Amino acid sequence: MTTATAQLMDGTALARRISEQTAALAAKITERTGAAPCLATVLVGEDPASVTYVRMKQNRCAKAGITSRHVELPASTTTEELVAALTELSEDPEISGILLQHPVPHHIDERAAFEAIAPGKDVDGVTMHSFAAMGFGLPGFVSCTPGGIMRLLEAYDVDLTGKHAVVVGRSAILGKPAGMLLLERNATVTYCHSRTVDLPSIVRQADVLVAAVGKAEFIRGEDIKPGAVVLDAGYNEGNVGDVHFESAAARASLITPVPGGVGPMTIAVLLEQTVQAAAAQAGLDLAEL
Ligand code: NAP
Repeated sequence: MTTATAQLMDGTALARRISEQTAALAAKITERTGAAPCLATVLVGEDPASVTYVRMKQNRCAKAGITSRHVELPASTTTEELVAALTELSEDPEISGILLQHPVPHHIDERAAFEAIAPGKDVDGVTMHSFAAMGFGLPGFVSCTPGGIMRLLEAYDVDLTGKHAVVVGRSAILGKPAGMLLLERNATVTYCHSRTVDLPSIVRQADVLVAAVGKAEFIRGEDIKPGAVVLDAGYNEGNVGDVHFESAAARASLITPVPGGVGPMTIAVLLEQTVQAAAAQAGLDLAEL
């Protein structure tokens, strides 16, 4: 008996292709305006994982011809101080896009901080404005990880119309917007979360499964519908996702590896949206560059 094995959705390769296109557009914007697109990264405190993520994003910016300005604030920063720093960046004409690395320390009102980011510079897709645009199906910046998931589905020609998409997780930056974007593409969407009753029975119905839980290997292959498309956004200790990869790959038709699936796509979308923001601010039409 042979075991069917899913085709891998290669996020590393797709992210590289998108970043090459982004770099070409960044170069054209720099040539036309005399200034490179610039991403402001804001880090509050010294959480080692956040420090690493910010550094990774800055390195990727540099490779794509996007400059970055880093703002580091102490862990004791108040909500008012953070809002003031983000407002200043929102008003600074040299800044194209703003990334507030999160989570921020618990004493800060994270929503208030996100809302201090001007909608036109919300390249990480975290404001209520961007969320509403995703909900209404209107142009705007998308949350980067859900945006990356949608780009993977497009690249692998997954037809979503009428498909049952199950999203496990409902965070404002990942699960919820992922479901909204899938709905916009005519999937029938079910959300699952920590209060869902009999989660495996719902997962078993998924033609398309998005795992965004934050629990290592939480979803097992035995609950994957044969032929399903599996997108694992989870990134947990030990470099493992939210899906048990080997058992799920034996049943799925397409699956993202961890690492190398959804993760690299998140940064690619962030850079792409930074260049889009820079073009819009300079009054340039990207399609004509
Ligand atoms: P989060 O804010 O902690 O949300 C987790 C979600 O999972 C919540 O909606 C929670 O439900 C749900 N959940 C928790 N335990 C559950 C259970 N036993 N059964 C069903 N649902 C459960 O996390 P997040 O920020 O969305 O991130 C999720 C995962 O994605 C993490 O592994 C994170 O590292 C990863 N991530 C990756 C990237 C990337 O670039 N690849 C970016 C962001 C996040 P309730 O709402 O009911 O609490």
